[in-house]
Amino acid sequence: MIGCENRQNKKNELQIVTSIPPLFSLTANIIEGTPARLTNLVPGNASEHSWQMTSSSAANVEKADLIIINGAGLETYLEDFLKDKKEKMVVASEGVKLITITSGGGSGTDDREERTSASGDGVIPNPHIWLDPANAKIMAKNISQALEKKDPTHETVYQKNTENLIAKLDELSAEIQTRLDALSIEPFMEFHDAYPYFDRAFGLKPAAVIELTPGETPSPKYLQYLLNLMEEKSVRAIFTEPQLSPKILDLFRESYDFKVDELDPVGQELSSDGYFIMMRKNAEAFERTFKKT
Ligand SMILES: [Zn+2]
Repeated sequence: MIGCENRQNKKNELQIVTSIPPLFSLTANIIEGTPARLTNLVPGNASEHSWQMTSSSAANVEKADLIIINGAGLETYLEDFLKDKKEKMVVASEGVKLITITSGGGSGTDDREERTSASGDGVIPNPHIWLDPANAKIMAKNISQALEKKDPTHETVYQKNTENLIAKLDELSAEIQTRLDALSIEPFMEFHDAYPYFDRAFGLKPAAVIELTPGETPSPKYLQYLLNLMEEKSVRAIFTEPQLSPKILDLFRESYDFKVDELDPVGQELSSDGYFIMMRKNAEAFERTFKKT
């Protein structure tokens, strides 16, 4: 490795930090059987867009050997911390074909544009790539390669684990497709713009996204557009999220009847199974809502 690090890690344990639970989960699978230690920054109950660094997470980033981020404009809270640590940074989204952010009804995207403007000129990528298992496979490969390079002693372990993980991701993808294919899915709305990769992977078509800027109430104009759409498209269900307040739905309830269930874009469990649990829970939400009767 290029660099001039003099720090000795006596136990030879690789210290790895991931930014969000899906990256924690993928990485946990890849390091199984090695002494590498893993910590995660954004907890599952916080929005991946509005979370702020704490002093303990800053300390973890400071001492980490590798910092695994999603990239695609997601980790704005890390920008300052990573400025002098580029060689430790692993961008898991490298090589993933990015979808551009939805502009929705034509208003309310200013904040997000500002937030992600560092990532490119005019084109704003949607960062939620991990919700397509095919992308998770690319992410797993990127993570594995970085680990192999940093810690060649465990190269074969990382490679074998990654092969197994990729096989599990293929199985998961096929399972979810089968489960969703068995449903009669009616028009639905998603809460924030987290699912274009999931929707594309599994052939879903949401009528709209409610919060174009996560955690922010839609503008009156966009809200009216959504309320009109409820009738126009006969929207039957709205999926809320554990990280965002569903209060805005009260306005929808005044005029419409619809089912409410929950999709989780990041997952709540920090474990190797966390990613798989999250994806299956999301499939279950569709099953509860659109089960053929
Ligand atoms: Zn999001």
